[in-house]
Amino acid sequence: MTQLQIKPYITEEQLQKKVSEIGAAITKKFKGEQVVAVCVLKGSFVFYSDLIREINADITCEFFGVSSYHGNTSSGEVKVTLDLAHPVEGKHILLVEDIVDTGITMNYLKNSILSRKPASLTTVALLEKPEALKVPCKLDYVGFQITNEFVVGYGLDYQGYYRNLPFIGQVQNFQ
Ligand code: 5GP
Repeated sequence: MTQLQIKPYITEEQLQKKVSEIGAAITKKFKGEQVVAVCVLKGSFVFYSDLIREINADITCEFFGVSSYHGNTSSGEVKVTLDLAHPVEGKHILLVEDIVDTGITMNYLKNSILSRKPASLTTVALLEKPEALKVPCKLDYVGFQITNEFVVGYGLDYQGYYRNLPFIGQVQNFQ
C-alpha cells in the first residue's frame, strides 16, 4: 500500500455534527414522504450510511456505481459501473455524493436520474471544491466547501485505500 502523509483536515466530530445537521434539514424537507436515497458508489458509502440514519422518513436504498477518477485527477469521463436496480419514476430521490470536484459526475448523475422522471430530485454532497468546478453544479445541501486539494478518508480513497479513515485528511506527499 502507498504510504502517504495525511494531514487531518475535517475531524470525526465535525463530520458527525455536520451529518446530523444535514439529516435534520432533509427530514424537515421531506416531512413524512417516502424517499429513495441513492448512494453513489464507491466514495459516498460511509457518508450515506451515516446520513440515512439521521433522516426520519420512509427511506428505501438504491446504489449507483460510477467512476471518473484515475489516481488523483478526474478523467472527465463518467463510466457507469452499477446502474440503479429499480425504476425511480414518480419517486422522491435523494442523491448522495461524497464530493463535487469538476461537477461532471454530479451533472451526469442528475441528468441520468431526471431522464427517468422522478417526482423530485434533491442533491447532497458532503464536500464541494468550488475552485475546481468546470461545469455549473447546483446542490441542495453541502457539508463543507474545501480548497482544491486531494482528500481521503470517510469513504474517499486514493488508489482504493484510505476509505476506512474515520476523518477526512489532505494528502501531503504524492509520488
Ligand atoms: P468530478 O466529476 O466532480 O470531478 O469528480 C467527482 C468524483 O471524483 C467524486 O465522486 C470522487 O469519487 C472523486 N474525487 C474528486 N475529488 C476528490 C478528492 O479530493 N479525493 C478523492 N478521494 N476523490 C475525489
